[in-house]
Amino acid sequence: MTTKRDYYEVLSVERSASGEEIKRSYRKLAVKFHPDKNPDDPHAEEKFKELGEAYDVLMDEQKRAAYDRYGHAAFAQGGRAGGFHDPFDIFREVFSGAGGAGGIFETFFGGGGQAGHDGTQRGSDLRYDMQITLEEAAFGVEKEIEVRKLDTCDKCQGSGAAPGSRAITCTTCRGRGQVVSSRGFFQVSQTCPRCRGLGEVIEKPCGVCDGEGRVEKSSRIKIKIPAGIAHGSRLRSTRNGEAGVRGGDQGDLYIVVHIKEHPIFQREDDNLFCEVPISFATAALGAEVPVPTLEGKASLKVPAGTQSGQSFKLRGKGVVQVNGRERGDLYARLLVEVPTDLNAEQRQKLEEFAARCGENNTPLHKSFFERAKEFFR
Ligand SMILES: [Zn+2]
Ligand SMILES: [Zn+2]
Repeated sequence: MTTKRDYYEVLSVERSASGEEIKRSYRKLAVKFHPDKNPDDPHAEEKFKELGEAYDVLMDEQKRAAYDRYGHAAFAQGGRAGGFHDPFDIFREVFSGAGGAGGIFETFFGGGGQAGHDGTQRGSDLRYDMQITLEEAAFGVEKEIEVRKLDTCDKCQGSGAAPGSRAITCTTCRGRGQVVSSRGFFQVSQTCPRCRGLGEVIEKPCGVCDGEGRVEKSSRIKIKIPAGIAHGSRLRSTRNGEAGVRGGDQGDLYIVVHIKEHPIFQREDDNLFCEVPISFATAALGAEVPVPTLEGKASLKVPAGTQSGQSFKLRGKGVVQVNGRERGDLYARLLVEVPTDLNAEQRQKLEEFAARCGENNTPLHKSFFERAKEFFR
């Protein structure tokens, strides 16, 4: 059996730590050890998984109690406390946005992230999934979201240096950011462990951000959603992603727009569709029928003798074209309802009516039997 590190030690918290303290410590360490951020460190993934496991256990009251009592044995094969969640799922969950929109918030790692010559590094792009209503999509909306992300450290203004201190060339790699070591016949080039590839180190790092120039903060960001936006569209909010390392460029924030299903309308491009039930008598006699639109009630003239399933177009009552001025149309499909629960009088009247109906009153029926004649022989 392999030895496992103590979960409290893994998360570097006291045994009495509160959930909030555990979460805070996890956030800090998980970002540090995320495998995508440490492509050169073969142990990063292991550490990241270990962190996820420790977090999973210590944040769950039952699992934590079992661990405090039985140690790792509580989770051994057949143990009473069950398995662990995927460490990447945990990571996504912990870093999910706290905003009311219920967004899922994740970091687009990879891409960028390369250290610049001046020791800076561009911040990661972020993704935020936003749910909006069909009305908001149709007319446009401005939303304010709350995002927890790495932002410029106020104390050092992003430089990463303590007041009065400055960045100096790293002596280990002499500013190259890479160190070369010999392994047998081979020369291996690796990211400098001292400056982590930046080529510079800070004499005295800022105490607030540990020299990174950025700290985790909540910020409120305004997002303008244009009218007519389609489901699944991606909007870019420039420079609202993660802050860069030591004053490097800000990443971008990408908003992925999800339009909730509407109880009445279905949308297809710029057009809307809805179904409107009308009574059998209304269909036969014709009438003005109220039809719902995004802006409220509209009136539709239903001609006498309307059949069930017939669609009527309400011009310009659809969704505006994104970046355009034209509006789509609304198609109302009428569904003729057959009356149920007839009382004696209604039944009698309807029977009288039926007795007086000729074939000319039911055009579909007539043509159907014309076509189906040979089948009824
Ligand atoms: Zn700082
Ligand atoms: Zn170095």
